[in-house]
Amino acid sequence: MTAPGRPAPVDPLDPIGIEDLLGSDEKAVRDAVRQLCARLIDPYVATWFEEGGLPSIRDLAKELGSLGLLGMHLQGYGCAGMSAVDYGLACLELEASDSGIRSLVSVQGSLAMFAIWKHGTKEQKQEWLPRMAAGEAIGCFGLTEPDHGSDPGAMRTRARRDGDDWILDGRKMWITNGSVADVAVVWANTDEGIRGFVVPTGTPGFSAPVIKHKLSLRASITSELVLDGVRLPADAAFPEVRGLRGPLSCLNEARYGIVWGAMGAARSAFAAALEYAGQRTQFGRPIAAFQLTQAKLAGMAAELATGQLLALHLGRRKDAGTVRPHEISMGKLNNVGKALEICRVARTVLGANGISLEFPVIRHMTNLESVLTYEGTPEMHTLVVGQALTGHAAFR
Ligand code: FAD
Repeated sequence: MTAPGRPAPVDPLDPIGIEDLLGSDEKAVRDAVRQLCARLIDPYVATWFEEGGLPSIRDLAKELGSLGLLGMHLQGYGCAGMSAVDYGLACLELEASDSGIRSLVSVQGSLAMFAIWKHGTKEQKQEWLPRMAAGEAIGCFGLTEPDHGSDPGAMRTRARRDGDDWILDGRKMWITNGSVADVAVVWANTDEGIRGFVVPTGTPGFSAPVIKHKLSLRASITSELVLDGVRLPADAAFPEVRGLRGPLSCLNEARYGIVWGAMGAARSAFAAALEYAGQRTQFGRPIAAFQLTQAKLAGMAAELATGQLLALHLGRRKDAGTVRPHEISMGKLNNVGKALEICRVARTVLGANGISLEFPVIRHMTNLESVLTYEGTPEMHTLVVGQALTGHAAFR
């Protein structure tokens, strides 16, 4: 308790008391994820980023699985069945370590597992979900193609019948976890419209070369999926869902995690800038004592706080079952853009050190360029919000 009349000391990472809006179970989830990150990710992630890739991805997946973080908001089949807010808090902590790690968890849980959980048969769920929840099997989600990103409805990957079997041909591009995945959820055009397929990656005709030369999300594996006459049994297809509704239902889940995650990257960059400003002396004073630096820090703190409040608000609405897709679009649009701005301002506070991997800022900043683009570009989310506001679709 604070004595009457005396304000509580300010936590610079939570100056408006967002902590008070969380329950004790939620704080416990957040703290457990934070500890895992401090033990298994933070000491190594700059090296993974510099060298490109995730050398210990299988061990890491099992550790994440043992804490219930893979498909953590799904019920049954070995999943932890936690709330949307718990999941969001976990995403924030993971992305405070690195967007690549949060991407691993998002793609596994919100894209690959969610697709199977929501649209799969009982057999598909039983075969894959318990192993994926434990981190023993890794999944990927193939929607984007070399020529079709924002407009996946025009995809060229095709699935055709051959007797009872399906034959898949096509290419997917920019697929997170692709080269290490045990199972790929692949969306393909059929005579009945777009359908989803559960593809074990050992199936003949399937390959997943790594995409090289990335300068963003380097602590993450990004791949092409090549499908050359991949023969699958009839029961590899999701039975009911047809059209873009299928993949979009999954993207909405992953985007929700990004609304939170982006604030984690921003918090890490802000914390680095604040600490640096207190220690770095120029003109005989810490740079934190200059008004121009304080303006930067105050602006960053305000955006960080509002972004976190927005994420929490959407999380509470998701748990209540009331959140609508355009709200999540607004969250992704706002929070990723603001997180990127926070990182850019934080980078200036660090001067030349701002471009060094010795500090997390430039890593977060370049990572967020991917986060800005995937799961719907800012332009796409602007159009979703625009349509919700005006009733006019302006996509084409
Ligand atoms: P395009 O769609 O070609 O867009 C190019 C530009 O044109 C953008 O600025 C876009 O907003 C703009 N534009 C397009 N249409 C319009 C319009 N109507 N009005 C105004 N502007 C428009 N995909 C997956 O399926 N699975 C994954 O696991 C996955 N992981 C990824 C990981 C990384 C690191 C990256 C970078 C991408 C990943 N993606 C993944 C792909 C990602 O979802 C796409 O890159 C994204 O959807 C954009 O598609 P595009 O790159 O083809 O850009």
